[in-house]
Amino acid sequence: MKKMLIPILAVLSAVALAETPKRPMSLVVMWDGARADGIVNAELINLRKLASGTWQKGYNGAWSFCGKPIDDARAYSFANHASIMNGVTRQKHGVTFNHTSHLCDAKRWPCWLSRLLDAKPGLKAYFSYACGDHNWATCRDERVAHRDFGGKDDENAAALAALYASPDAPDAAVMMFEEPDGIGHVKGFYPMSQEYRKALETCDVRLGKVLGAIAARPTFADEDWLILVTSDHGGYHTMHGWKDTHSHTTPIILAGHHVVNGQMAGFPRGQDIAATMLAHFSVDVSGMDLDSIEIGKKAASWGPAAKLDDSLVWYYPIVARTKYLENAVKGGPGSVLFGDEEYFNPKIMKGRRFATPYLWIGGDEDVPCGARLNDSVDLFLRPGPAVTLAFWAKTVKREGRQVLFGNKDFARAGSPGFVVTSGLHTERTANGMCLVFATPEGRDEVVGTYDIEYGEWGFYAVVFTGEGQAWFCQGRKDGCFHWVCARAENALLGSGLPLCIGNDGTGSYKWNYMDFLDDIAVWKRSLTLDELRCIFKAGLQGRQLKDVVALDVRSREARDLMDTTEKAGVVGK
Ligand SMILES: [Zn+2]
Repeated sequence: MKKMLIPILAVLSAVALAETPKRPMSLVVMWDGARADGIVNAELINLRKLASGTWQKGYNGAWSFCGKPIDDARAYSFANHASIMNGVTRQKHGVTFNHTSHLCDAKRWPCWLSRLLDAKPGLKAYFSYACGDHNWATCRDERVAHRDFGGKDDENAAALAALYASPDAPDAAVMMFEEPDGIGHVKGFYPMSQEYRKALETCDVRLGKVLGAIAARPTFADEDWLILVTSDHGGYHTMHGWKDTHSHTTPIILAGHHVVNGQMAGFPRGQDIAATMLAHFSVDVSGMDLDSIEIGKKAASWGPAAKLDDSLVWYYPIVARTKYLENAVKGGPGSVLFGDEEYFNPKIMKGRRFATPYLWIGGDEDVPCGARLNDSVDLFLRPGPAVTLAFWAKTVKREGRQVLFGNKDFARAGSPGFVVTSGLHTERTANGMCLVFATPEGRDEVVGTYDIEYGEWGFYAVVFTGEGQAWFCQGRKDGCFHWVCARAENALLGSGLPLCIGNDGTGSYKWNYMDFLDDIAVWKRSLTLDELRCIFKAGLQGRQLKDVVALDVRSREARDLMDTTEKAGVVGK
């Protein structure tokens, strides 16, 4: 008898030691019309906790600020609500415009909550929304508890928080907020209005209430939560609903035990939410014909460097008084000014922007001016180069499409390479600053445009990542830092021409940039949004890049620099 006792005890203790699987739970919160850059322009404390992996012990955070709405419909709400719910794009769900959700074949393309209940009939699902029957039409499954809050987002959040405190808590929930879209349509999405920022902050407070209710659950420690926050589209001025980058750059933030910390690789999409949530409940989606893949398991390969000047290859604080711009930081290859010697254009001007001179490029149609960066052809030779370009510009309103930077022959549409230009508009955006790059189909892809604050210094940055993203950022006088992101996996960036300042790659483009530039920098790597924001915030304080190159963007000093202006009320208040 004694002999038997030992093996039995060993088995019992092994069973006790084996971890009891935690109960999978999930929540998706959709903020209608939230731009990705809201995260740094408004005080979104709860959202930042989720993204940074600091929400609760053991929870990681994955984020993307270049999330993509579906690309086979214009950026209308309902087309994207359907994709978030059903995991397929317009071609399958059939919802092209607002108020056409009834066209969605919910039997053929059921919402993921229905698919979850099919696979796990014992679970509870919940869907609360803001657009009445139209939202419900994408689901139409009476097994799913559902409530229409008609845009009353506070009640919506309070109801779900109450549910989480009750025994009826849903295993999987989707909650859609009507704000900030409603405010954006009246007060503006971009440039970010005070009211729009406030609407984002109010959404964050609502999110906080629901997250608080989750964390307060007596069974929280035994639960395995996957929480996702996203939006259906961004916006420009008081509109959205087309395919420009302002509408097509959204936040996707995931918090969970099993997500990989940090910036997500590639372009996570609203339609990916279905596969991601179903995978969390171990539901096999392989036979469902979804346009949806699990996200949050792979981090981007690029991140902040140890110092801002890592891989800085050209830098022009514009301190030189000669015809050669000084490459002050690295002592590497410089550049050659070209133009009209007689009129001494372009020339270095004394100014107050950074307490040093800045560059003024004159010239006219007959005598194009600019500066050619020596040895810059190689920068874009290989496919998928990681390159960043940042600068300050003060622009006067003019006719024509002036080129600020470029290595492309801009007079020849669709020619390889890129330019940054002012005075160009897209289908629905006004004239402004934009990035243009060539596609293999011989098209000129436009990223932006940004409204120019004429007569004011503004910060701009272009980032091409090795992962196929083309970011274009703008920092404005009010402290707002905006960004949009385009798919550039196939961009033709190598043109065989050098990169020029104030002109295109040919150096003979007749509308050379005739205004002011300062603190121009080119890196042979992808800078992160935080790194760029650091440079921008320093610039707002009158500090040049060379004053902050030693900064590690992850340092306390860098965080303080970025937060100072926010606390001073420039941003977000
Ligand atoms: Zn919307």
